[in-house]
Amino acid sequence: MRNFVCAGVSAAILIAAASPAIAQGCPSPAGFPRWLQGFKQEAAAQGISPQTLSALDGLTYDPATIAKDRAQGVFAQTFLQFSGRMVSGNRIQTGGALLKKYANVFKQIEQQYGVPGPVLVAFWGLETDFGKVMGNLETLRSLATLSFDCRRPDEFREQLIYALKVIERGDLSPPEMRGPAHGEVGQFQFQPKNYYQYAVDFDGDGKRDLIRSAPDSLASAANYLQSIGWEPGQPWLQQVRVPDDLPWDQADVTIKKPRSFWAQHGVTDLNGKPVPADNLPAGLVLPMGRYGPAFLAYPNFDIYLEWNKSLVYTTTAAYYATRLAGGPALNKGSGPVEALGLAETKLIQQLLAKRGFEVGKIDGVLGAASRDAIRSMQVKYGMPADGYPTAELLMRLRGGQ
Ligand code: CA
Repeated sequence: MRNFVCAGVSAAILIAAASPAIAQGCPSPAGFPRWLQGFKQEAAAQGISPQTLSALDGLTYDPATIAKDRAQGVFAQTFLQFSGRMVSGNRIQTGGALLKKYANVFKQIEQQYGVPGPVLVAFWGLETDFGKVMGNLETLRSLATLSFDCRRPDEFREQLIYALKVIERGDLSPPEMRGPAHGEVGQFQFQPKNYYQYAVDFDGDGKRDLIRSAPDSLASAANYLQSIGWEPGQPWLQQVRVPDDLPWDQADVTIKKPRSFWAQHGVTDLNGKPVPADNLPAGLVLPMGRYGPAFLAYPNFDIYLEWNKSLVYTTTAAYYATRLAGGPALNKGSGPVEALGLAETKLIQQLLAKRGFEVGKIDGVLGAASRDAIRSMQVKYGMPADGYPTAELLMRLRGGQ
């Protein structure tokens, strides 16, 4: 789970190229040892024991962590690219085998936390390929380096304190605590604060071991999902077919309608049967516009967006879970869908910002604010307002209309 954009096996946004741009006023690495002394005093004041703090003795600044963090230039994969890569036949097979292997564990977890096995296995596969790729940098060194750095020191200092608390509690030793550059740990890539708050010992050995214990890891992920509002027994995502005409400006994960609204407008399941005309709240998600794959996202899907803010990542994780739960293969829609490149998407964001729209960070990755702005301009231009950027939209924005 990630609250910041970073590289990793699972991130839908991948770091592409390093930038030489270094923010002004950042401290010289020469000051790291003195900073570390000060940090130890602060951690001691927060109750971390001298024995745990000795894990920081001799720790050095890690230029590799900074290089990864300063890397700039992201490229965004489309939903079809990312889901095609992440939800391969092999991943579905492996996921199914793991559901069988840990069937008893999943049964107990669902009884206790209300989260079904396929949902957990899908995150497990996307985050670390089921615990195979967890990162190998020293977590304390990475977090200390980023806490010393000038850009988000408070964010990482808090994570460093929590990493020390995890060690103090005896869950992991400092050498065991390794991961990717931003300090995530274990089979579900928990940030240390979430590790401290949500990890559980499910195999009964007295340790909350999110690196080596699959039962601990799976139950901890379920505990986290339950804590942030997962509703037991409720669906999360369903593939649907959409008709040629819909109130497209209502199609967004943030706009929930009673399912009857979608039924009335001709939304059906993949077999052409209307979706149930009941009051279950559902948002229509079109990750590649109205000609691409279409999904109804139920309230549990919002829990996915707490795990990772990327709509491409979350739709992929949720779709993967439906496959593991026996759902149908991906319907790619009526197609063809066009996909703008990163530069063109950034240009659209720039042009929208110039018109006074709040689009968030101009990085070629479309968040809710960018999608909203796109919809507004599509309405203005009399285009179907599905929030999906196209070459035609770019052309009209460039034309200054
Ligand atoms: Ca354990």
